Amino acid sequence: MAQRVSYFEWMLQVLERAIKMDNLPYELYKVLSRPERVLTVSIPVRMDDGRLEVFEGYRVQYSSALGPYKGGIRFHPEVDLDTDKALALGMTLKNALNNLPYGGGKGAVKVDPKRLSKGELERLSRGYARAIAPLIGDQVDIPAPDVGTTPEIMAWMVDEYSRIRGYNVPGVFTAKPPELWGNPVREYSTGYGVVVAARAAAERYMGGLQGLRVSVHGFGNVGQYSALFAQRQGAKVVAVSDTSGTVYDPNGIDVELAMKVKAQTGKVINYPKGEKIYDPMASLFVDAEVLMPSAIENVITKDNASKVRAKLVVEGANGPTTPEAEAELYKRGSIVVPDISANAGGVVMSYLEWVENLQWYWWDEEETLKRLDAIMTSNVKRLIDRYESLKSTNPSATMRDAAFILALERVYRAMKARGWL
Ligand code: GLU
Repeated sequence: MAQRVSYFEWMLQVLERAIKMDNLPYELYKVLSRPERVLTVSIPVRMDDGRLEVFEGYRVQYSSALGPYKGGIRFHPEVDLDTDKALALGMTLKNALNNLPYGGGKGAVKVDPKRLSKGELERLSRGYARAIAPLIGDQVDIPAPDVGTTPEIMAWMVDEYSRIRGYNVPGVFTAKPPELWGNPVREYSTGYGVVVAARAAAERYMGGLQGLRVSVHGFGNVGQYSALFAQRQGAKVVAVSDTSGTVYDPNGIDVELAMKVKAQTGKVINYPKGEKIYDPMASLFVDAEVLMPSAIENVITKDNASKVRAKLVVEGANGPTTPEAEAELYKRGSIVVPDISANAGGVVMSYLEWVENLQWYWWDEEETLKRLDAIMTSNVKRLIDRYESLKSTNPSATMRDAAFILALERVYRAMKARGWL
């Protein structure tokens, strides 16, 4: 059965619940249940065959209480304004939870990037950057990649924006390629952070990540590096999936080989070993202690949550678990490390890159990774501590409630200090 409540509506439900649970004023809900500003743009693109196509895009500037708006840009055929608002609210809370000096925002273009030629993709990316240029800036709103966008796209966008301004503005987009003011860590930072979060939770609840079986749903930027670093931490990756299907091997998947196959053929199902299951969702239900849903929102729903066997769900994607599904998982004794903590490695790394860019300075890969690891580890541990203390007074509290509460307290303090509330 289809999900009736939209992603934005269920984000608001969790928001309201956290505000009530923490006795924060309802005014905070009134302010945070709407974005500060929504920009809708249309982007005409000359296609290779001579036709003109006009794409629809958005930039949601959700909150600026803690600093410039910050969040990625999604290129996806099914994205709409509601989803973009949900993601922008999520960024507001993610940035707050992780102590970054940012508010939250998110952009999107309704397009299937896989169906565009490279030239078409570049024209669309530059067109989108031009369309949002009046409302962004390295002190105003700093986009980055999300599902369907890449460092190459960020390079086109930062070039376009810099041309408009008439001088180079490296800090206006993050996750750029290392050749153009990017940092090499950003490419794998989200997956790396997912594994830092999994490691901290596994140490607290399961005696460590070593030897645990891990399944990864989604094999894009986040899923691939989550699988790779999970394996490097001594876990056994038993299943990975993308839209082509699931590869399952109880003896362990060779993640580097799977990444090579994905790079060469575009489909993980072409991995030469293990069992092929022509169903991307199968990775959610295999026998594994840890599940990393790393594709997109709304995949673990009330209709399938009872089939999830993992004790630890670590959300690499934004919004993969619906609230009803999450309640079911907790009822069955599982714990969900929520997206705004588990996948924050990307934006934490974006922050480090931005700091480098603003100073025209750089740290090497080793130094950057050390900083990323330290920030992620302490943030996740702080969250687990808060979850444990919250649970002692609210037995039904989830780790997501604790994450929202930590984030909301910070946003609230900033709004109070500014005199907004
Ligand atoms: N799109 C990523 C996220 O959802 C990264 C955002 C960023 O680096 O600004 O967290």
